[in-house]
Amino acid sequence: MEKIKMTTPLVEMDGDEMTRILWGMIKEKLILPFVDLKTEYYDLGLLHRNETRDQVTVDAANAAKRLGVAVKCATITPNRQRMEEYPQLTEMWKSPNGTIRAILDGTAFRAPIVLPCIRPVVKNWEAPITIARHAYGDMYKAVDLETEEPGTAVLTFRGESGAEQTLNVQTVRGGAVWQGQHNTEASIRAFARSCFQYALTRKQDLWFSTKDTISKVYDGAFKRIFEEEYEKTYRTEFEKLGITYFYTLIDDAVARVIRSKGGFIWALKNYDGDVMSDMVAAAFGSLAMMTSVLVSPDGTMEFEASHGTVTRHYYRYLQGEKTSTNPMATIFAWSGALKRRGELDGLPELVRFGQALEDASLETLESGVMTKDLLPLVEVGFEARGADSEEFMDAIAARLAEKLA
Ligand code: NAP
Ligand code: MG
Repeated sequence: MEKIKMTTPLVEMDGDEMTRILWGMIKEKLILPFVDLKTEYYDLGLLHRNETRDQVTVDAANAAKRLGVAVKCATITPNRQRMEEYPQLTEMWKSPNGTIRAILDGTAFRAPIVLPCIRPVVKNWEAPITIARHAYGDMYKAVDLETEEPGTAVLTFRGESGAEQTLNVQTVRGGAVWQGQHNTEASIRAFARSCFQYALTRKQDLWFSTKDTISKVYDGAFKRIFEEEYEKTYRTEFEKLGITYFYTLIDDAVARVIRSKGGFIWALKNYDGDVMSDMVAAAFGSLAMMTSVLVSPDGTMEFEASHGTVTRHYYRYLQGEKTSTNPMATIFAWSGALKRRGELDGLPELVRFGQALEDASLETLESGVMTKDLLPLVEVGFEARGADSEEFMDAIAARLAEKLA
């Protein structure tokens, strides 16, 4: 069989631990036999990040910007415990995802992989709900203060021009806690544009919700900026595709989401997105089935799994055990990246391959062959057996070969 050709490379960001092992298997079993794969390879494994003083992460992000499509393996974000585990680390390097997100100015969209034998807890959800979480500011870049005596807090902005604006926050009679939050116009606008861009590529409705009735200025700015971007740049294209932009209050949105059939993108402020993405993931099933794509305002996309490096499985793997680690989200990161590359480069064969890879993976699960994490989630009466990662991928490879023959 002739291998499917690529014209432009995609950026390949390798990672750590069990997901690095899965990464190698996915390439060997599911991609290289069928595709004449072209990638620009960056090793984001912890030790290589350390050797390059994390320059490799910056280089990989810049490459993604240049080539427009990237696929990333999960990576270790070092903490104190990791510093002990890897004594050669010269610094507690920052989260690679944070570095890449800052360079691409991107928004992460998380969506579950859904299939008939694993029904979501919310019975009426038929199609995936994709959560777009704003990744800058608010509570996550706040300053906090605790005070004990009666007194008054004020909020002062000092402009570079020398002009000042001051507001009274509150006068209190006793102990109190305080928090100073901010967001920037530029970040909110980039978030809005990434959301509209992604809705257009997915041809799905975009919902956005805040609490602007209470937070008239702060959340009001989010609402206004989304509306401005929609009117200025996206309305015509949305109408052409027959998709809608829908704004509503967050509490109304929660009620509607629960009663909906799914199949849309829900954009949320930083904290709301943090909470709602875990709620949606839990309701759809398993962290191992959550995909993630980072979208920049110019349409650059970096595909990855939502989960981490699955450390506990890796330690077992190192002891020579076969593990039943679920590769679905990492497979879908690869298929998503290949489809996007194919769309951008006008290569329908590559798009078809990405789709065939997803179909083969889903059909394998539907045939009852799955990794062990999914066994407790299948519908009553559905016959399934647990396979190790390698057996599971071999089963997918066999189906894929049939499809492509
Ligand atoms: P994790 O790797 O997502 O794993 C947490 C647990 O969830 C696992 O121990 C496993 O449970 C289950 N799980 C997750 N993915 C699975 C899969 N594909 N198949 C089967 N089970 C799966 O999270 P973590 O243990 O908190 O973090 C480990 C490392 O990953 C950390 O160093 C962290 O910095 C990094 N991390 C990276 C990213 C990223 O690069 N995007 C994201 C999050 C975390 P059982 O052990 O019970 O089977
Ligand atoms: Mg959370």
